[in-house]
Amino acid sequence: MMNSQNKKVSILIPAYNEEKSLASLYQRLQVLMNAHAAYDWEVLFVNDGSKDNTLWILKQLREKDSRINYLDLSRNFGKEAAMLAGFDYVTGDCLVIMDADLQHPPELIPDMLKLWEEGYDDVYAKRISRGKESWLRKQFSLLFYKILKKCTKVEVLENVGDFRLLDRKCIDALTQLRENERYTKGIFAWIGFRKKEILFEQGDRLAGNSSWSFYKLLNFAIDGITSYTTAPLRISIFTGLIVSLIAFIFMCIILAKTWIWGEVVRGYPTLITIILFLGGMQLFSLGTIGEYLGRVFYETKNRPPYLIREYNGESINTKKS
Ligand code: UDP
Ligand code: MG
Repeated sequence: MMNSQNKKVSILIPAYNEEKSLASLYQRLQVLMNAHAAYDWEVLFVNDGSKDNTLWILKQLREKDSRINYLDLSRNFGKEAAMLAGFDYVTGDCLVIMDADLQHPPELIPDMLKLWEEGYDDVYAKRISRGKESWLRKQFSLLFYKILKKCTKVEVLENVGDFRLLDRKCIDALTQLRENERYTKGIFAWIGFRKKEILFEQGDRLAGNSSWSFYKLLNFAIDGITSYTTAPLRISIFTGLIVSLIAFIFMCIILAKTWIWGEVVRGYPTLITIILFLGGMQLFSLGTIGEYLGRVFYETKNRPPYLIREYNGESINTKKS
């Protein structure tokens, strides 16, 4: 049955505290894999420092089914780093990234594969509905996209998560981008290649809670914007310029007033205009320096984006990253 001519499809699933979802996820994947035996299948779970029984369950699955593989990271590095680890270790001709919580239906994968066979390199799933989510979170997410769209030159797609199929070309491209401040959505857009949209209905989280707290999401949004655009830098420049301009106008008014009516306190008008003017200029240059310095700081540390404890039960050194 195994044929070396078969194309190999990898499925990458980052998992953080997903013990409750794994059994039904595996069941649905198994149905999918058995129904499409014309492909060789590989499922790679990346255990992102889970604090529950996720790793233990993955080990059980691996014993039952050799198509299941797992990477165990040394701690929680976040989904972005977990995905990079997955990109480094998958061996397929193409790769499907999906969440462990079954918000991404595996039943969509055959449709993605069809488009891949037609020659598309990056088939991304766009959700029609967002599933159960708080109103506030939805608004926040929409606002984030609006801001990001305004700030960037590369197109960012709304309502597109990480559920997508990538050709080997894309995987190889993605593994070359090894920045620590990862913002994968932006990176997907950046690499280019032939993209194709496919629609799906996003379900609700099967079990457990989304690990994204509001605070985490806010940080994610800030990371997304700063690692993707230099727009905040521009904003600081404009703020500085506007403050300086206001100070200049203020200076003219005060000088005119002084000229017409005379001074109340000697030296006050010139003093206040100089302070305001310098304040504006300082804000301007500090913002500029700070932004660049921050980037240099993170880049010079040059740390690996993730560390691996074991791969399918074997400890390996993480030279790759
Ligand atoms: N995840 C991860 N590391 C983290 C947080 C999340 O690997 O630090 C995984 C999680 O197990 C899931 C996917 O990323 O498979 C999406 O996470 P979640 O469902 O919490 O995010 P949401 O769907 O709410 O955006
Ligand atoms: Mg989810």
